[in-house]
Amino acid sequence: MTLKIFVAGEWREGRGDPMVSRFPADGSINAELNAAGLDDVEEAIAAADAAWRAPAWRDRMPHERAEVLYRVSDLIRERLDELAALQTRDNGKPLAEARGLVASAAGTARYFAAACETLEGELPTQRNVDFMTLSQYEPLGVIAAITPWNSPIASEMQKVAPALAGGNAVVLKPAEATPLMALKLAELFEEAGLPKGLLSVLPGRGSVIGEALVRHPKVRKISFTGGTSTGRHLAHVAADKLIGTSLELGGKSPTIICEDADLEQATKGVAYGIFSSAGQACIAGSRLFIHRRRYDEVMARLETIARELRVGHPETPGVHLGPLISEAHRDGVAAYVERAREEGGRIRCGGVIPSEGELAAGSFYPPTLIEGLPHDSAVCQEEIFGPVLVALPYDDEDELVGLANDNVYGLAAGIWSADYRRALRLAGRLEAGTVWINTYKKFSISTPFGGYKESGLGREKGRQGIQAYMQQKSLYLGLDHEPIAWSD
Ligand code: NAD
Repeated sequence: MTLKIFVAGEWREGRGDPMVSRFPADGSINAELNAAGLDDVEEAIAAADAAWRAPAWRDRMPHERAEVLYRVSDLIRERLDELAALQTRDNGKPLAEARGLVASAAGTARYFAAACETLEGELPTQRNVDFMTLSQYEPLGVIAAITPWNSPIASEMQKVAPALAGGNAVVLKPAEATPLMALKLAELFEEAGLPKGLLSVLPGRGSVIGEALVRHPKVRKISFTGGTSTGRHLAHVAADKLIGTSLELGGKSPTIICEDADLEQATKGVAYGIFSSAGQACIAGSRLFIHRRRYDEVMARLETIARELRVGHPETPGVHLGPLISEAHRDGVAAYVERAREEGGRIRCGGVIPSEGELAAGSFYPPTLIEGLPHDSAVCQEEIFGPVLVALPYDDEDELVGLANDNVYGLAAGIWSADYRRALRLAGRLEAGTVWINTYKKFSISTPFGGYKESGLGREKGRQGIQAYMQQKSLYLGLDHEPIAWSD
């Protein structure tokens, strides 16, 4: 059966090319569908433009808009198991991880419902007796939301919830590889009573459907999560149209193990930071700096942990690393490891594509630990987006900070140290939008997230998350009974 897509409040066959959703664990087909066509883009945007202006949404009180998001949050929690199973089929994440992502999407919807209910305008300090001023937040209009394949539902909800809460309409284009969760999200919003047209979901190629969407004159903001080169291109499109962007892009995040760190906690945290999601995380801690005095011990511990992690079918309980999203991506990861070998890197563990048993059927890759490379090598500098950790020793703090910041990205960083004065001093010197100290890859929806340098522009999450989809209108109220006097 061909899966339908959600355009302008209706379920229908897409008018674009045929596409297939596959389970990365064994390549089996999850669903066949037709991608959105250019006519679908037109129709979705026209409906979105009408819907956000319609009294049914725009004039609803914030707490009434919030109701829809609260209902979506409840639906997600009621169906957590079903949604997690679908998420695992969609992109191959182990079930336990998928459950966490689905639960986080429920929390995101609830948080932005509350933010919408409590968002206040501003009453600036008054500077005149003959008028008063105030400032209120209003929607932007039609939002183009474009998402990657690595954390469907979570990254989609992070855009759709604040945008709708802010009174906008959203046209969402999910990644080619993961259309299922985005379409499921549309189903949930429909069931929760979202008026027609406020959300459309258009699976399809970025270069065709994504491009048509962002270039459309009625689109008033591009909210993008994905690779830095695509983000840079979209920033140019937005600049031409003079519209805003939120760009959540790539990373090559440094993790630091200080001399005084608790090594049991640090090495387990580092392994989780790089190997969970099979390394397919923008915030993966993929460069590890270890104080030279602890280097051998840390590497021995990490090697043991990496060898014990279970790579396997994502539906099997207890599996730590599922498959990578596709064979093509897995081959790209393997090519980086080959390059490391050629450049003199030592592969302490992993580094070989599994060729036996159930792992041979899917795009699996083992946890891989590399050392002995110079910091300017490609493996140390470029985002690999797989379970590959490269380790380097350091001697003093200035050298460490120089190396950690010597990268085009600035998404996140991790510090393991028993001394918070040292850790906070270091955190202040790192060029990163998020710094974890004695923990890693933990998130709170109330805390802003975004990148420094080429890791992005703008912030998602937090109360600013909703304001990013709104604009301020200032009002001047005359208090004087006399006509305005001309200045002398
Ligand atoms: P990608 O840039 O290839 O694709 C992301 C999305 O953009 C997809 O939906 C794609 O179809 C679309 N797209 C591609 N070209 C387009 C165009 N010309 N116009 C409009 N849309 C277009 O990224 P990916 O491979 O799907 O995802 C992996 C990347 O995402 C990594 O670099 C990762 O670090 C990054 N990422 C960042 C964050 C973050 O919050 N900073 C989170 C997750 C992933």
